[in-house]
Amino acid sequence: MVELLTNELFEKVKAGLPADAEIAEIRFEGSEIVIYTKSRDFFGGDNTAIRELVGQLKKRIHLRPHVSILSPTEEAEKAIAAVVPEEAGIKELVFQPEFGIVNIEAEKPGLVIGKGGETLREIRATAFWAPVVKRAPVIPSDVIKTLRELIYKEASFRKDWLDKVGRRIHSGWKATEWVTLTALGAFREVGRSCVLIRTPESRILMDCGVKPGTNEYPMLNLPEAEITKLDAVILSHAHMDHAGMIPFLYEMGCEAPLYCTTPTRDLMVMMTLDFLDIAQREGRPAPYTSKGIKEAVKHCITLDMEQVTDIAPDIRLTLLNDGHILGGALIHLHIGEGFHNLLYTGDLKFDRTALFDPASTNFSRAETIITESTYGLHEDIQPRRFEAEGDLIDIVAKTVKRGGKVLLPSFAVERSQDIQVILANAGIDVPVYLDGMVWDVSAITTAYPEFLGRDLQRAVLQQNKNPFTSPVFKRIGSQEERKKVFESDEPCVIIATSGMLIGGPSVWWLRHLAEDKRNTLVFVGYQAEGTLGRKVAKGWKEVPIEEGGRTKGLPINMEVTTVEGLSGHSDYKQLLNFISKSRTRPELIIVNHGDPVKCVEFARAVHRIFKVEAIAPKLLETIRLR
Ligand code: ZN
Ligand code: ZN
Repeated sequence: MVELLTNELFEKVKAGLPADAEIAEIRFEGSEIVIYTKSRDFFGGDNTAIRELVGQLKKRIHLRPHVSILSPTEEAEKAIAAVVPEEAGIKELVFQPEFGIVNIEAEKPGLVIGKGGETLREIRATAFWAPVVKRAPVIPSDVIKTLRELIYKEASFRKDWLDKVGRRIHSGWKATEWVTLTALGAFREVGRSCVLIRTPESRILMDCGVKPGTNEYPMLNLPEAEITKLDAVILSHAHMDHAGMIPFLYEMGCEAPLYCTTPTRDLMVMMTLDFLDIAQREGRPAPYTSKGIKEAVKHCITLDMEQVTDIAPDIRLTLLNDGHILGGALIHLHIGEGFHNLLYTGDLKFDRTALFDPASTNFSRAETIITESTYGLHEDIQPRRFEAEGDLIDIVAKTVKRGGKVLLPSFAVERSQDIQVILANAGIDVPVYLDGMVWDVSAITTAYPEFLGRDLQRAVLQQNKNPFTSPVFKRIGSQEERKKVFESDEPCVIIATSGMLIGGPSVWWLRHLAEDKRNTLVFVGYQAEGTLGRKVAKGWKEVPIEEGGRTKGLPINMEVTTVEGLSGHSDYKQLLNFISKSRTRPELIIVNHGDPVKCVEFARAVHRIFKVEAIAPKLLETIRLR
């Protein structure tokens, strides 16, 4: 059955190609089809036949040169240099003969592509390699470099594996008779997000996170959640409460593709490596090793926003901007050719921020919506964004005026970049030091401007005004640099991880800045119960702090303040607004990702306001969606 369908499809492809196409082989790469030709004329030609096939089969089809017609790499390099203008700033060419691909990493990818793809066509016709263009980060990033190298190195594994994935996706299916959801994590809680979707044909896992500060993991020991039997894993975004256990799946033998955006993949690697690093430093056992991270990357299929992709015989996936963090996505599943549509919000920001456009409502149908409820209570209303931004700028100005330093403890991803953009746009003229992972995340951000909000994107790509490369931002990379900044009398701003003062450079800074009353500590994020951040935010005048194995009291003389309204989550009104923008009326709203009372109360509010069934399932519950 499997072979038959695949063969039928491949026969159709062959039938649509001219006699002189000299086809060497046809393969799958996930849901896409790749044709390898032995004819240089056909490869470098106008490709009308391929375009017609795409229209006819409604599939992405790529034409690549068979290894026998590739030109030697030195010749290809010369040919590329001859057609690509110097201003494109080519940084690196990586040849992958297995795929017939040359990866071109450039500062200005648009100039490698050319008007309407003209330059790409010239590369094909003169270099006889299929060009793939990537943006070089404006700020060099070790994570991106290592990742790209790993993917290039695994070319032959990926070629076979991607073909296998394609054969599974195209293996055909009987009628879809039911769809179920199983709550594996982040139901009536925040943390360890994990949702299992099943049909008679397929099993899909959405997110697999950790619960920070605990040993609680998603309920993966259920028989129906068997890791090796999954068809696809989809990751909404790279925060640890959604992504932290993804490497575990792959260390335990998962062979299903991991679908996410490219920035999500890069950030996930950075965050999980850091997670292992911290566990090791603190002498805690970790649920997986770096092997799991590497395996996850090997099995990753990255998607663009709004690209529609078959991920199982009966399921089609679309990722949509979630407005929450770089590369973060809402997940839309189209199941059984219109049998059921499901939207999972992951984490959702339905408002414009300094970094992103509001979450997308560009999905055609959603009979079921699974929504987060971090701020799900009626009183969870945040101040207006511009007011919050104004408050932050005022506090910085006041502190600078009295010769003090501003400490901003922050999460590495999202909040920190948000603050960078706010400060850069306000024209701040004192140095802003980035300590901890903050610098690396900014570097990754500069590699993916197309994932930023429209205004910021325009500033970066067209007006050459990249806030992240502003000279006010300086990296702190060592203890010596930290000391130098501390000992200097110059007022400055320091953005440091962790956001809740649980270890990391922010605690070092607190220790050194707390006693001077000219300094200011500004909280911009949620402070969980039991953390040092919570104690300081509540106004404790002295906090216990570890030093040389002993606990001592640290007097807090610095000004302490909290700026509300810079959250990457929707508040109560924004959550409701998002649901109301759904084009068709949902039939069922499932509430998750909130404290128990928030999940339950938000479900009640939704039911009352929209007159639809709304529930807040408990962990381990399975619900039939249709
Ligand atoms: Zn998040
Ligand atoms: Zn979350």
